[in-house]
Amino acid sequence: MARYTGAVCRLCRREGMKLFLKGTKCHTEKCPVDKRNFAPGQHGRDRKVKIVGYGLQLREKQKAKRIYFTLESQFREYYEKANRSSGVTGEILLQQLERRLDNVAYRLGFASSRRQSRQIVRHGHVEVNGRKVNIPSYQVQVGDEIKVREGSKKMTVLESSTEFASHQQSPQWLQVDHKNLSGKVLALPKREDVNLPVNEQLIVELYSK
Ligand code: SF4
Repeated sequence: MARYTGAVCRLCRREGMKLFLKGTKCHTEKCPVDKRNFAPGQHGRDRKVKIVGYGLQLREKQKAKRIYFTLESQFREYYEKANRSSGVTGEILLQQLERRLDNVAYRLGFASSRRQSRQIVRHGHVEVNGRKVNIPSYQVQVGDEIKVREGSKKMTVLESSTEFASHQQSPQWLQVDHKNLSGKVLALPKREDVNLPVNEQLIVELYSK
């Protein structure tokens, strides 16, 4: 399936919560979830059915997929890999999503949303251990040093994102240097480091049927 290119605020409204897909706008009163907190579409306002069972599992999967901006096939691969690994499947699934380079660049403050971060990586503005990496799904390892390439540091979008990120709390598993637009992976992310409203157990139940 092709990547979704429509209005992202609809996705938040569909899930009934803020997924923070638009950067700074998400923190302002312009956020549509604050203004119109009902599902999008003609009958969105009337949809009052309580979601249970399969529907609930599906919504959790969609939510995680949308937050990390991944395709269904990629997301399923993360699940399959997590399922083959030793450890708690749901936690390893989230860990893989969190270790994506586009997510790490977002966490380091190079962009104000994961979507924007994906663009920055895709356009070759980020390097890992001194080498350009333009693959958003690249999995970072402990000890990796990630930074914005020298020639890209003056980009306006980076300056405003770093300013925004410097007021946010940095994740424990990353060492963040806003001034030099760089960071280092100190450890692999644990469940408590992923402060997102996702119930990973429901996703595992969905895929293990
Ligand atoms: Fe979601 Fe952000 Fe749009 Fe609000 S502004 S609906 S949080 S993407």
